[in-house]
Amino acid sequence: MSSEASAAVVAPGGWLGLLGGGQLGRMFTMAAQSMGYRVAVLDPGADSPAGSVADRHLQADYLDEAALAELAALCGGVTTEFENVPAKALEFLATRTRVSPRAEAVAIAQDRCREKAFVRACEIDTAPYADIERAGDIDRAPEALLPGILKVARLGYDGKGQARVVTRAEAAAAFKAFGGVPCVLEAQLDLEREVSVVVARRGSGDAVHFPVAENEHAHGILDTSIVPARISRGLAERACAAAERIAEGLDYVGVLCVEFFVLKGERLLVNEIAPRPHNSGHYTIDACITSQFEQQARILAGLPVGSTALHSPAVMVNLLGDIWGKGGRDGAPDWTRVLRHPEAKLHLYGKREARPGRKMGHYTVLAPHVETALETARAIRRDLGF
Ligand code: ADP
Ligand code: MG
Repeated sequence: MSSEASAAVVAPGGWLGLLGGGQLGRMFTMAAQSMGYRVAVLDPGADSPAGSVADRHLQADYLDEAALAELAALCGGVTTEFENVPAKALEFLATRTRVSPRAEAVAIAQDRCREKAFVRACEIDTAPYADIERAGDIDRAPEALLPGILKVARLGYDGKGQARVVTRAEAAAAFKAFGGVPCVLEAQLDLEREVSVVVARRGSGDAVHFPVAENEHAHGILDTSIVPARISRGLAERACAAAERIAEGLDYVGVLCVEFFVLKGERLLVNEIAPRPHNSGHYTIDACITSQFEQQARILAGLPVGSTALHSPAVMVNLLGDIWGKGGRDGAPDWTRVLRHPEAKLHLYGKREARPGRKMGHYTVLAPHVETALETARAIRRDLGF
């Protein structure tokens, strides 16, 4: 696209396009629609969370050129909601319309080997690791990586494609069980905390970041985000600066999230990069002047970014499919247990089938103090029975 065309603003009323139909896409679609945009979603599923609220659903494979061409012809800009969208689809779209983020930035974040090398090239620390491309690499890996976690380089999420290993023999068995695909072996660290920073960056290079979220995981899946993170101001500033440096290094356009590990003595390491809005940024919908999804729409439309200011401390809790089947209609929990709290905001993603580990929704509790929000969030969780 010419730089003139790519700088043009898509005004409300126009069409924005999205590859992927999951909950991140649903929240993007709803944010864009509330600003007056029409949204077209390309997703192969029949009734995906985003497809079912979109103004137009193109039900097709991500590499279906006719569908991609239709999306590009309709929309002034196209974005994505998951990192595993084929880079080829983004490249194809980019010949016809504005696409953000660009394929190359997504390709780096799709591959843990490239991602970690990129972070280190930005002079930011990661956990000690080694690329494991073949079984022999396990024998050559430094002793310090054990006990460790073997992670598939591509397509892992929510702790899937990961194995905790203590010995080289266990690492070799896990590598084989993953089918011998490229992996990284990462030292298992004693984490003091996990935090994340969502950055919104425009094509002009202007970037803003949201307040740091403190994240608690259970079984490799995000469970709770606490904002503001209960860390020192200095550490928060370092995390925000690192996240912006990464966005700049990727020449990133759109919304991105950087996940960090915090070790003893406030040592900060980058864990991974998500080239899209992030679960740990869902609190922004209810607690910030502009949500991460509105930023995604604004940037895609070529508009200025909105304020990321937090107007209230917030605690977000994920609702996984595990808690279905404990009563209520269709086995769904009794939502009045959330809604009877006036400071709680319920978000459900419209997924018909609940499965263990599946993200079905979340709730966010707002309160003048983060500790109060945390207490209410925990009371709701006990009420829901998890
Ligand atoms: P995913 O893509 O599934 O989110 P992550 O690499 O972020 O994969 O791992 C999921 C979670 O597992 C992390 O948020 C963290 O809680 C834990 N974890 C991952 N790597 C390590 C590590 N090297 N040491 C300790 N815990 C880890
Ligand atoms: Mg992660």
